[in-house]
Amino acid sequence: MKFDLHSECELCASSGGEIIWKDGFCRVVLIEDPDYPGFCRVILNDHFKEMTDLTQEDQTRLMRVVFAVEKAIRHAINPYKINLASLGNKTAHIHWHVIPRFEDDKTFPLSIWSDLNKLHQSHPLEGHSIETLKNLINAYLNQ
Ligand SMILES: [Zn+2]
Repeated sequence: MKFDLHSECELCASSGGEIIWKDGFCRVVLIEDPDYPGFCRVILNDHFKEMTDLTQEDQTRLMRVVFAVEKAIRHAINPYKINLASLGNKTAHIHWHVIPRFEDDKTFPLSIWSDLNKLHQSHPLEGHSIETLKNLINAYLNQ
């Protein structure tokens, strides 16, 4: 994989947290957040924006680490649920959040980023878009 450092990217410039596992491809950091004990991020070492920018082999390699972290958190912490999330809207460098959730945590059952005071406006998906989504998923999986 090509080394591609972006000087203004937080995850290129720093580890992003306490490193608890790493190899030459990615790292696992522990997030200090008492509301979500055991919260980890799996961070790709190189700067890529989207999962589909990676080769299929690298996508699989990264998800293998994400799933290992999920299993480790389940066994070590025994949360009610695990949330997996890949956002990157503020830091567009591939990283996965592996978040243990508890029925009594601060934002349960919403996402940990939910603003509980904010009203949400819905944007229903129209019939045509649903068909397009179905067709594209089928097409991509049959490639
Ligand atoms: Zn980066």
